[in-house]
Amino acid sequence: MSEVEETKTTREIRINPIIPSESVLVATARSMRPRKEEAPAPRDTRLHVDTCPFCRGNEHKTPPEIGRSPQEGDWQVRIVENLFPVLGNERTQPNLNFGLQQAIDGYGRHEVIVDHAQHGIAIHEMEVSHLHRLFRTYRERMRQIYEMDSRLKFVLAFKNFGPAAGASMAHTHSQIIALPIVPQNVHDEVENSKKYYQKHHHCIFCTLIDEALTFETTIYERDSGKVARRISVGQYVIERGKKFIAIKPFASRYEWEVHILPLQHEADYLHQNDEDLEDLANVMQRTMKRLDAVIGGAQYNYFLHSLPHADEFTSCQQSYHWHLEICPRTSIPTGFELGSGLFVNTISPEEAAEQLRAVQL
Ligand SMILES: [Zn+2]
Ligand SMILES: [Zn+2]
Ligand SMILES: [Zn+2]
Repeated sequence: MSEVEETKTTREIRINPIIPSESVLVATARSMRPRKEEAPAPRDTRLHVDTCPFCRGNEHKTPPEIGRSPQEGDWQVRIVENLFPVLGNERTQPNLNFGLQQAIDGYGRHEVIVDHAQHGIAIHEMEVSHLHRLFRTYRERMRQIYEMDSRLKFVLAFKNFGPAAGASMAHTHSQIIALPIVPQNVHDEVENSKKYYQKHHHCIFCTLIDEALTFETTIYERDSGKVARRISVGQYVIERGKKFIAIKPFASRYEWEVHILPLQHEADYLHQNDEDLEDLANVMQRTMKRLDAVIGGAQYNYFLHSLPHADEFTSCQQSYHWHLEICPRTSIPTGFELGSGLFVNTISPEEAAEQLRAVQL
């Protein structure tokens, strides 16, 4: 390795400020790259497929319809039952739990949202008005599910896009899973941000947004104590709308991970009005265009983290801050990562943010 390359190399463990156990090893040196660099399986980009149950004209081939938008005329977004739900109606026999082997009955809901009538259209190719409709659909369905059954504590809206992200159906779709428990990662986010709030009287996510916009941090050399590097944290901003911001987290687990958050504090996605969601649609579309341009055909998971509707969290309206996490899948986790819990990121988040910002839209 040449000296010039050496100086550009980052090799540091970054602590996730919200969930410290989810920390990241940023290791940009080539020798530190433990992943295979194979091109992912190509995704299906056809506009219409006669045999696809999610394509327009094949509505009779899907499981029962739960809803559609708009109600009249051709549908733009449809909600249907999941043919292979991972969760379902409660079973009649009680759980038998012994000792440490605790299990919770797989009771819950699992639904599919057909995001668009066009088979292989990507999020960044959809009109802002369509994304607006999709985000309103998530909100309405999440609200209905919470109102329908008070035992459901957390409704997760998410999307797997492309074979690299585990999408089993090629037709563009999202999913909604409603759980009787709060998943551990969301639980940790809510609990840790509550602790931060109790100590600092300020939301940690709002603090991170402020830092992303204004803050400058200094890194000192371990032995000499002299200033080694200054990071202008403003460099983490990817997109900024009137009401939303897209940022590259300082301790990103995935090379191209981006989070979108409301600029004004809000814990619950269900509280965002139509005007808010229009700006979200705009920031989302621009962010996805950037990701697609930089990665060259992005395949990704994204998911909404919103305040769970659980009694123990009703006091967290001020401390929790909902967000959308976008995780493009450019590699497969390795044994080192699974074994250590330390994710390796081979592109520094500063560099990734710079590349994303440089895209001409
Ligand atoms: Zn289709
Ligand atoms: Zn906040
Ligand atoms: Zn989250």
